[in-house]
Amino acid sequence: MKITDIEMFEVSLPLRRPHTYASLGAQTLGNYLIIRLNTDKGISGLGEGPVVPTWGGDHMTYFGESISTAKVVIQDFLKPAISGQDPHEISYILELMDRVIVGYPFAKAAIDMAIHDIVGKDLGVPVYQLLGGRYRSHIPLAHSIGLLETERAVEEAKVVVGEGIKTVKLKIGHDPQRDLDVVKGVREAIGEKIEITVDANEGYKSPKIAIRIIKQMERYGVSIAEQPVKGLEAMARVAEGVDTPIMADESAWTPQDVARIKETRAADIISIYTTKPGGLHNALKVAHVAEAFGFPCNLNGSIETGVGNAANVAMAAAARPISLPCVFPLTTIRGKEQTKMAGVYYVDDLITEPFRYDNGTVIPSDKPGLGIELDESKLEKYAP
Ligand SMILES: [Mg+2]
Repeated sequence: MKITDIEMFEVSLPLRRPHTYASLGAQTLGNYLIIRLNTDKGISGLGEGPVVPTWGGDHMTYFGESISTAKVVIQDFLKPAISGQDPHEISYILELMDRVIVGYPFAKAAIDMAIHDIVGKDLGVPVYQLLGGRYRSHIPLAHSIGLLETERAVEEAKVVVGEGIKTVKLKIGHDPQRDLDVVKGVREAIGEKIEITVDANEGYKSPKIAIRIIKQMERYGVSIAEQPVKGLEAMARVAEGVDTPIMADESAWTPQDVARIKETRAADIISIYTTKPGGLHNALKVAHVAEAFGFPCNLNGSIETGVGNAANVAMAAAARPISLPCVFPLTTIRGKEQTKMAGVYYVDDLITEPFRYDNGTVIPSDKPGLGIELDESKLEKYAP
């Protein structure tokens, strides 16, 4: 089988409400690149680059990507490098891409997903089988609440808990007093049994500020504080200074990052994306290193459309250390809604059938490949 062509589609999905966080700036989520990789055997694969220009690594270690950069990288570099190659040679194809251009993991992840989709369809197995097989049948979902006013955040938390969500993640890192108020308000509204995690997206200006605020939050029962500050040294100071486990997200892109986090004691938990290391194949390497060092992990992302989410579901189903509640949307298709608010970030999607939601968890599909089909009319409808 040979790769013959890569089609690219820009999409902009309608949001339920804007999902905001400390480092997002004026960007909105959901303006992403979808690709279709075609082969001479008539089997096609789907992939997504959920690019966010303002989202990168610590201190410019990794950069933001946009639809335009991803298109240029694919058109000028990746497509010529992998055309004519056999998609079954996953690891070799990833090396070919790295040889022609350094970086751009979100663009490369789109191709990696599409290749996994093709190989899964050709072999008649779901993508999680290519990643070691299904390790869990239900993936616990955390519902993420952006930087809303306290009252709205509390209202949303009550609704999603009513719909089965067991972990509520609150975006913080903008205004310490608001952050404390929102954690207190949500805890009082949803009771003691539901987990609350917080994510500052590097928003706190110094380790001392982060330590002071997280310590004050500890009385309300916060189970994870994600990326309070920027950089491994600052993260290590926070991790040392509080009892709450610290999760590395912006600091943890590659397997090597995980090793450095271990060395510097910068965090207790690793947040894995299918995109940060450049796709499923490399994300599994991140999971293996994290597991070797004893880090529990979750799977997190950029609020992908149903295409990227199918890769997220496969990854979370297969990777053993991804034991913590995952932050990806419950893909919602107009007319086939499973919840009103729990896991819902977009009010419609590009795929024909959503992954099944069950009491705060998502059930991986056992269909071949990524297990999804594109609704072509939606590609047109949601073209920007
Ligand atoms: Mg995060």
